[in-house]
Amino acid sequence: MIDTKVIIVGGGPSGSSCAWRLRQNGVECLVLDKDVFPRTKLCAGWITPQAVRDLRLREDNYPHGMIKLDRLHFRFYGKKVPIRTTQYSIRRFEFDSWLLQRSGAPTAEHTVREIKRVDGKYIIDDKYRCEYLVGAGGTNCPVYRILFKDKNPRDKGALIVAMEKEFPFEYSDANCYLWFFENKLPGYSWYVPKGGGYINIGIGGKQASLAKGQDDIHRQWEFLTKSLQQLKLIDISNVTPKGYSYYLRHRVSVMSSDKAYLAGDAAGLATVDMGEGIGPAVQSGLRAADSIIGGGAYSWQGLGKYSAVELWRGRSAN
Ligand SMILES: Cc1cc2nc3c(=O)[nH]c(=O)nc-3n(C[C@H](O)[C@H](O)[C@H](O)COP(=O)(O)OP(=O)(O)OC[C@H]3O[C@@H](n4cnc5c(N)ncnc54)[C@H](O)[C@@H]3O)c2cc1C
Repeated sequence: MIDTKVIIVGGGPSGSSCAWRLRQNGVECLVLDKDVFPRTKLCAGWITPQAVRDLRLREDNYPHGMIKLDRLHFRFYGKKVPIRTTQYSIRRFEFDSWLLQRSGAPTAEHTVREIKRVDGKYIIDDKYRCEYLVGAGGTNCPVYRILFKDKNPRDKGALIVAMEKEFPFEYSDANCYLWFFENKLPGYSWYVPKGGGYINIGIGGKQASLAKGQDDIHRQWEFLTKSLQQLKLIDISNVTPKGYSYYLRHRVSVMSSDKAYLAGDAAGLATVDMGEGIGPAVQSGLRAADSIIGGGAYSWQGLGKYSAVELWRGRSAN
């Protein structure tokens, strides 16, 4: 049996941020992830200035491509609304791996399946034992499924289905475009240029609204790729996407219980209209660590809520 004070399930932004803060404070922890890093994570890779600050990222300490976007080109129902702001784009393949390595925490490749509570400790798959357990395993996090599902049933109305593709492309347009409610999509589609000559294109919408309109995400994907070709943003027609689903922020009654914590997508913390999940994942991971270190309360109240509407009004531009 491997014994440690804290086990973090999942090495994405929530898990690595939690590990980073714990290690900075000398707390022993171990990160378990089913994948070996660097691993692919479906994501547009847009990060906010708040996330950059929370992670203490700078262009001179981040060794991979990080593009600064001086404006976001929004289209609402086809109407152009360019918004001056400073945002960033990264590639999750590089970013997550770098964050995890920077945390200084030991990691192990392990798919968590079973969690038991024995004599005040958590036992994972009869192999790992810890006093504190952090569930940072994303939408399908086993800590959520085993310990929190009954306390926090998820709201199906907040389920987002998304599709994306990231690929090397010699782009001539380095702007970031977001199309809201185009083609009756209950969500938005995007074109995000990346460092190192990559772009990410994708689409995300509320599953319940798509089903209600007898629409589906595949039809919307076809529409997006055709539109991008017409706009001359891409020049290939055959782009095969991958899909993933996650929950936007909704009522989460219990974020911690009995020295177990939920962070990031495991808790369903992505913001409501932009689906920004990296920033809330980082903040919640740091907060979980602070609560373990100092014994204070842990909640999602007051977590950043990046919103298209607020960006438009200039309230959360930086
Ligand atoms: C298509 C798409 C585009 C997106 N674009 C953006 C964007 O541009 N900007 C933004 O801010 N957010 C975006 N998001 C949301 C964002 O990707 C997530 O909110 C964010 O990754 C959450 O981080 P996390 O650390 O909670 O979970 P994750 O990044 O999902 O990490 C969870 C980790 O847990 C591991 N894991 C899972 N199950 C187990 C298990 N049983 N045992 C061990 N390990 C396990 C996984 O391998 C994974 O490494 C997007 C999401 C999608 C689907």
